[in-house]
Amino acid sequence: MTDRRLVGFMGGDLLIRNARVWPASDQDVIDDGCVLVRNGRIARVGRFKARADTIVDAEGALVVPGFIQTHIHLCQTIFRGIAEDLPLLPWLKNYIWPMEAAHDVQSIRASALLSAAELIRCGTTAFMSMETVRHTHIAFEAMAETGLMGVIGHCLMDETGGYNPLCVDTDEALDYCDVLLDHWGEHDRLKLAVAPRFALSCTGKNMIKASEYARDRGLLLHTHASEQIPEVELVKEMTGKHNIDYLDSIGLSGPDVCLAHCVHTEQFERDMMAEKDTRILHCPSANLKLGSGTAPVPEYLDMGLTVSMGADGAPCNNRLDIFMEMREAALIQKPRIGVDRLSAKEVIRMASENGARTLQWEKEMGTIEEGKRANIVLLDQDSLHVAPSTDPATNVVFTHVSSDVVMTIVNGQILFEDGQVTTIDEDHLREEVRMQRRKLQERAGIG
Ligand SMILES: [Zn+2]
Repeated sequence: MTDRRLVGFMGGDLLIRNARVWPASDQDVIDDGCVLVRNGRIARVGRFKARADTIVDAEGALVVPGFIQTHIHLCQTIFRGIAEDLPLLPWLKNYIWPMEAAHDVQSIRASALLSAAELIRCGTTAFMSMETVRHTHIAFEAMAETGLMGVIGHCLMDETGGYNPLCVDTDEALDYCDVLLDHWGEHDRLKLAVAPRFALSCTGKNMIKASEYARDRGLLLHTHASEQIPEVELVKEMTGKHNIDYLDSIGLSGPDVCLAHCVHTEQFERDMMAEKDTRILHCPSANLKLGSGTAPVPEYLDMGLTVSMGADGAPCNNRLDIFMEMREAALIQKPRIGVDRLSAKEVIRMASENGARTLQWEKEMGTIEEGKRANIVLLDQDSLHVAPSTDPATNVVFTHVSSDVVMTIVNGQILFEDGQVTTIDEDHLREEVRMQRRKLQERAGIG
């Protein structure tokens, strides 16, 4: 980026030149290409000459659409490494939920900023998260400062058999969503989702009210489903139905319903999801780390389902690195269903265009296209571990690592350059995270 003339990374035009531009998964690379950004949106893509306030010389970098992660937990990033080698339900009940219950506004803020720094450094430009049952306004405030785009889910839990300290009366939780909407409903880069956690921590009444609330206001619904067999069995015991079937029976299906995991599903449930166009959020690392299994992603894609991707929470991953997720998503399917299945291109599509579709932001992001937000990532292809570079899909999924990201741009704003996140004081954050983690563990009584 040596030739860059930076007049200010906000406002004005920005021109990326001397780039290998790969605008979308079904398009060819434009060698020696340019992208012109005006007012945060892409104004022109191709080979052309133009003047701009800010010039970025990409020095031959591969320029791709910003990645989109549709299932993360901002509030859990500060729990990284707290609980290892455990299956889902004990992991939740003994570690994650007590830590969430112990959060205060300072620890939530530190966790959200820590997430943002990692997302930006690794080329994720938009996300959907599930937060906890309190302090979601702090997550909004922190993420607004970072420049990222995202859908922040306020978590609902009311089933006392789940974890009592996190149970909140549904009306009270939805009143809080009203407050969030009052403050953030018109925000340019952030929007609210309603996130009943999963069938075992929410009563049917809670989930029905949550879905009615979301639909009246055009909000997305974000939940977990069919991650592990003991979870599916408990839902069956409780409701007499398979998990996806149960969710459908209480209204949680359709293109506004985003289901994380869907590892253990019956064929009739898959048909149901395809028929209703319910969205699946695939989290390969988390599914391996918690021993959940491998979601049948190629089968879902064959059925026309929209599958997107996310790292899930840092305590079950332990990173928020989309490059790791893409590589794993491809690799875990090959021994299971065939080496020719789930191509690199399909994986890229899940991490970009399908993500945009899931967040109902397909007109705003997912490809480098005139009129869309300038959410763009530059990848250095000069490193020897990339040489000789081949087709861009293979490069991105199998060859590149997240440290090849040299620039992350969101909404036309440069959020990462010269090895630094521009919107976060990373040295201060490192200290803050250390202190807040210690205090949080003390409050939670987890040593
Ligand atoms: Zn999750």
